[in-house]
Amino acid sequence: MGAGPAVGIDLGTTYSCLGVCQHGKVEIIANDQGNRTTPSYVAFTDTERLVGDPAKSQAALNPQNTIFDAKRLIGRMIEDPMVQLDMRHWPFQVVSDTGKLKVQVSFKGKEKAFYPEEISAIVLTKMKQTAEAYLGCSITQAVITVPAYFNDSQRRATIDSGTIAGLHVLKILNEPTAAAIAYGLEANHKGEGKRNILIFDLGGGTFDVSILRVDDGIFEVKATAGDTHLGGEDFDNRLVDHLVREFRRKHKEDLSQDKKAMQRLRTACERAKRTLSSSTAATISIDSLYKGVDFYTTVTRARFEDLCSDLFQATLKPLGKALRDADMNKDQIHDIVLVGGSTRIPKVQTLLQEFFSGRELSKNINPDEAVAYGAAVQAAILTGNRSQGLQNVLLLDVTPLSLGIDTVGGVMATVIKRNSPIPTQETMEFTTAEDDQETVVFEVYEGERRMSKNNHLLGTFILSGLPLALRGEPIIQVSFSIDSNNILTVSARDTDTGNTSQLTITDTRGRLDREEVERMVWEAEEHRAQDEAQQEKIAAMNSLESCSLHLKRAVEGGQALDVRAKKRVLELCEEATSWLEGNQLAEKEAYEQRRRELEEAWDSVFSDLSQGRGREGEARGEEDGAEAAVAQHGEEVG
Ligand code: AMP
Repeated sequence: MGAGPAVGIDLGTTYSCLGVCQHGKVEIIANDQGNRTTPSYVAFTDTERLVGDPAKSQAALNPQNTIFDAKRLIGRMIEDPMVQLDMRHWPFQVVSDTGKLKVQVSFKGKEKAFYPEEISAIVLTKMKQTAEAYLGCSITQAVITVPAYFNDSQRRATIDSGTIAGLHVLKILNEPTAAAIAYGLEANHKGEGKRNILIFDLGGGTFDVSILRVDDGIFEVKATAGDTHLGGEDFDNRLVDHLVREFRRKHKEDLSQDKKAMQRLRTACERAKRTLSSSTAATISIDSLYKGVDFYTTVTRARFEDLCSDLFQATLKPLGKALRDADMNKDQIHDIVLVGGSTRIPKVQTLLQEFFSGRELSKNINPDEAVAYGAAVQAAILTGNRSQGLQNVLLLDVTPLSLGIDTVGGVMATVIKRNSPIPTQETMEFTTAEDDQETVVFEVYEGERRMSKNNHLLGTFILSGLPLALRGEPIIQVSFSIDSNNILTVSARDTDTGNTSQLTITDTRGRLDREEVERMVWEAEEHRAQDEAQQEKIAAMNSLESCSLHLKRAVEGGQALDVRAKKRVLELCEEATSWLEGNQLAEKEAYEQRRRELEEAWDSVFSDLSQGRGREGEARGEEDGAEAAVAQHGEEVG
């Protein structure tokens, strides 16, 4: 396969979406199930690994080994309060491997643990394969989007996921910025001038508000705010809790401890929630939900809105914060853009509209696809696509959090303020705290709290070899530089000696080291081979089964065959079917061998028959029919 274009991937908490921009036109690529978004689900079974739709649809039957929400784990440590909180709700097990998170599953009969990076890499591999199947060429480059609030280690971990999936990550792009690009292109086409755009992105798991200025194809993010823990899944949970209570009232049974029943209920609730965006009532009907009891009920939109009212209301607070950070009032916002599947909820739209005193909301991009659309455009630009309409698009992102150094008394000295446009570089002077201090330890933090300990420690490094001097005399210049991927490099220089010291960020907590990434690349490669082998095995199994079925049908329909011959062929088919049932885990070659045996047996039955009976003409007719059945079957598999 030749090398193909760079793609844009919206790697979502609950769903992922894929786009490609060619000849100035963006296409959203549907997966092999025909769906334009793919569940970010990976499941492990006794025989195989499943990704996307098949993984999600078997979740109820295999809850402990079906992983979702990897985006909530990526780049985080086990002690992270968010992780601790989430762990209580996940049906799968999260373990700590020397502080780094892993999910533990049973796969092919063995216990196995995966880093969240590996799980996301499996989803990314699926997206890559979807693109390759559609475009007919190999895909090696991508722009991947992340929430605006992702910190440095979450961004780096996302890049690692891409690497494991065999993708060179051209850029890690903020999701609202990607949506703005999608929207901006539309605006450009309309020839509108300078505009302030508010992106309201309420997805499955996260909520982001961003304010951007778009001027002649240049996008500048002025402010970002949001909640990493608010989205469609929370609304699903409210509905689930409500129905568990209703079930208890009606049937005097508590189903909340039954994982399978809960998963079935959750799937039904998500569907009902979607229905409630276009209808005022939704019915839920689940056969034999718990202890053989069928569950049938109706949820009204009014009830759903009531159950979620505080969650919907919670979207308004970050709106105010983003406006304050951007130093704008509501009237200065020209466009209010809806992104993310959950913005289809009418009440969410009404609240937002009321907040902006009844202003119209822009809904002209598909909320599920806008982010992938923008990522695809960005991918095309970064790979030198010079199509009309893309030429003028430039991007300015901002730092999501302030960055600085811990100083005396544990106070953080901010070097780069949050919401600074990136790429950026800032230098600040520091000095020693003691006389004759030869070594300085720098702790680099991100966050908005004054005391360093309340912020997030990114890493530490040491500057040594300072000449003897009184405290406060040495001048040490510390430079922070952030590249276009929002990746930070910190360096220090002792101005007295003029020497630039060799500084290293020693603390790599929360990040995978190079060897680990390489190991995972290798493992992903190995999985690819395994997946292919599994596919071939399934094809051989299907081939045997359908060969047997075809023969059976041909014989049953073949009036000319005598009873004895019919019986023999049917016995052979029966034998093949029961062998298949008892040998689901056999090797590919065994299935192929069985199929050959079946065909040979058929041939011999037939030649006995034609010799013994001497009814040449009729027998030929039957033979042709049966051979046709085998040949037709051969094409299907071949
Ligand atoms: P996203 O991450 O943007 O793809 O959003 C996915 C979330 O949007 C999931 O929680 C979906 O249940 C939710 N969603 C999708 N369509 C609708 C709809 N019509 N009404 C309400 N929520 C929806």
